[in-house]
Amino acid sequence: MNIVIIGGGPAGLMAAEAASAAGAQVDLYDAMASVGRKFLLAGKGGLNLTHSEPSEKFLSRYGTRRAQIAPLLASIGPDTIPSWARGLGIDTFVGSSGRVFPTDLKAAPLLRAWLRRLRKAGVQFHVRHRWIGWDEQGALSFATPQGIHSAQAEAVVLALGGGSWPKLGSDASWVSLLAGRGIHIVPLQPANCGFDVGWSEHFRTKFSGHPVKSVAIIVRDAAGSESWHPGEFVITETGVEGGVIYAVSASLRDEILAKGVAILRLDLAPDRDMPRLTHDLSRSRGKRTMATHLQRQAHIEGVKAGLLREVVSKEDFADPARLAVAIKSLPLRLVAPRPLEEAISTAGGVPFEALDARLMVRNLPGVFCAGEMLDWEAPTGGYLLTACFATGRAAGNGAVAWLIESGRCQAALGMLNDKR
Ligand SMILES: Cc1cc2nc3c(=O)[nH]c(=O)nc-3n(C[C@H](O)[C@H](O)[C@H](O)COP(=O)(O)OP(=O)(O)OC[C@H]3O[C@@H](n4cnc5c(N)ncnc54)[C@H](O)[C@@H]3O)c2cc1C
Repeated sequence: MNIVIIGGGPAGLMAAEAASAAGAQVDLYDAMASVGRKFLLAGKGGLNLTHSEPSEKFLSRYGTRRAQIAPLLASIGPDTIPSWARGLGIDTFVGSSGRVFPTDLKAAPLLRAWLRRLRKAGVQFHVRHRWIGWDEQGALSFATPQGIHSAQAEAVVLALGGGSWPKLGSDASWVSLLAGRGIHIVPLQPANCGFDVGWSEHFRTKFSGHPVKSVAIIVRDAAGSESWHPGEFVITETGVEGGVIYAVSASLRDEILAKGVAILRLDLAPDRDMPRLTHDLSRSRGKRTMATHLQRQAHIEGVKAGLLREVVSKEDFADPARLAVAIKSLPLRLVAPRPLEEAISTAGGVPFEALDARLMVRNLPGVFCAGEMLDWEAPTGGYLLTACFATGRAAGNGAVAWLIESGRCQAALGMLNDKR
């Protein structure tokens, strides 16, 4: 039983692990000179493998794709990822936010151990092989430095990633290949991304690169009720990016798509309520400048004061009551999400409706899909890797099961029975 995996990110590696554990001969192809490049990048900021929050909350992170992702987490998910990592010699810990990390926070030791185990299990790696489609005989075609290479596979798992950070390998060139086979692809969009505001030259030169700490984002749901999301973000050359922005980026992106603009409301003083802030700012400022008054009475200075100056009119800035309103709910006008190439992850892709429960493309028998190339999205917090692992395992297992059930692989059935 020969299964080809294309794409050596976390989804493809997990598919390889599952298929090889079930007795398949696995050949894994990747366009780059080495596998797992985005996984390694993810480790730079602390590899967040999954999240320890209660299952209901965890599942809610997948939004409209919760129903499709939920059953896949049964084979590997937030409860089992720590023990899976331990099997590779990597201990994990739960951070104060509930996020789960390897104890050294790094991706490289985990990836090294994982590749070692896969090689030992017989998985063959073929790097610098860029998949460019199927040839006339139906074989898989790869562009390599030595020319075109063809490979036959009884089943293939595509785990080609989304379209963010293309220099790490996932350039979404698969979109046209699958669309050419009649598969409807939900347009790829940036997820967990920054946004353009269009700063004044003065603000941009003075504050780009500055972190904005101890703020909260105010989110209004469809029913009109508001919730506060505390966190921090960074001022960029063109706008804003960072943790708390990513957390609400999907709805902001969709709002921009629908209306051409989205208003992000910031609470610059989440630890003070409005009456107190108004009272403090109404104190006589004597001969002090407004900037000093703001700093003394509301602890607003630096980039936060700069944001107020950037957004609030001179008249409102001089009026304590109106200034307090602005501090507690500063409207930032977002005009565009940053491009997909810069995003942490990708929304859109192969819709689950085009796949069966094993993640096989319904109208391409023997072709399975996994990872970020599928149409789901989630915030940062370990939910991305968790779904990549889970869909990878499902696709790897699915390919084996399909080969056996479709009678294409009697030998495999024998092998599986021996193992049992
Ligand atoms: C800066 C950053 C930090 C992140 N941190 C985290 C985090 O801490 N926690 C978390 O959960 N997620 C994190 N993510 C997201 C996570 O890394 C991705 O969701 C995950 O890597 C996607 O896995 P994948 O296997 O689907 O795709 P990828 O990891 O993108 O792998 C796809 C592979 O397919 C190969 N490929 C693509 N096209 C072809 C082709 N035509 N032929 C052959 N090979 C091809 C690529 O070379 C690549 O190796 C982060 C992402 C970024 C950018």
